[in-house]
Amino acid sequence: MSQSSKVSVSLRLRPPEDEAVPGDWKKVYQTHASDDEVIVTVLNPKDPSAPRREYLLDTFLPPDTTQQDVFKQVAKPLCDNVIAGFNGCCIAYGQTGAGKTYTVVGETEGTKGIAPRAAEYLFEQIKRNEHTKTTTVEMSFFELYLEHPYDLLTSSDASPVVKKGRQSRHDQDEGGIALPASMRAPTPPVSDKPYSAPGSARDLSHYVPKHALAVREGPEGVYVEGLKVVEVTSADEVSRMLETGMTRRATFDTRMNERSSRSHSIVFLRVTQTSK
Ligand code: ADP
Ligand code: MG
Repeated sequence: MSQSSKVSVSLRLRPPEDEAVPGDWKKVYQTHASDDEVIVTVLNPKDPSAPRREYLLDTFLPPDTTQQDVFKQVAKPLCDNVIAGFNGCCIAYGQTGAGKTYTVVGETEGTKGIAPRAAEYLFEQIKRNEHTKTTTVEMSFFELYLEHPYDLLTSSDASPVVKKGRQSRHDQDEGGIALPASMRAPTPPVSDKPYSAPGSARDLSHYVPKHALAVREGPEGVYVEGLKVVEVTSADEVSRMLETGMTRRATFDTRMNERSSRSHSIVFLRVTQTSK
């Protein structure tokens, strides 16, 4: 496969929250690297006879890897491809608390994640090319919650609202798009173990989609109808919008603790270049 179409898999091992013996995390894995791949064996230090799990990866990022190095190794090649005219996509996958938000968005200026660093790098490259190319960058930021997209860049309350009791018929209230029955949040079957009694914290049937956007298919592929697209001219602007969008996610977090494991957020940057 060429570099422009290759899918590559990286594993970032996060540092433990409570590190009794600094550096003790080294005992939980072994690595075996060759030229273009690495095998990581995960061990159970408390039980050496426990089955070992092996992962074959393109890149292994151990717990002491900095945010800058994660960007360099994982996302910078994607950004270079975008500047060369290819689409690129980076997906963070892992259980709640694994460090996806930390890795992609980050927390402070010093620990900013892949997305703000990608924006910085893209704008640096655009500046370098400004004598020969006119470039525009557009941004969207939304989350998928129970399979419905919610815009994180709109000023309205973009999150689903919590309705106590029975599901009501207000799906199309207050400017939200009326969703066909097939696109509404599913009512969980009674026998499905992860869910419990109606009205309890785990019951999702009373979360009514509000301001949910619709996913459509058009000549250019699948898109989210009505999603806000904002032209951005600097990495600072991208960071500010990420921050605001994350606050909107966080507001809803406090209303529903099951949400973080069921919601996925997507930062989208469209780079358009034309020769001068
Ligand atoms: P997720 O988004 O996968 O649920 P978070 O990114 O919110 O997980 O991370 C959970 C906690 O772990 C946060 O408090 C975050 O600061 C911390 N954390 C995650 N990864 C790292 C890391 N590589 N270094 C330091 N702290 C981390
Ligand atoms: Mg998260």
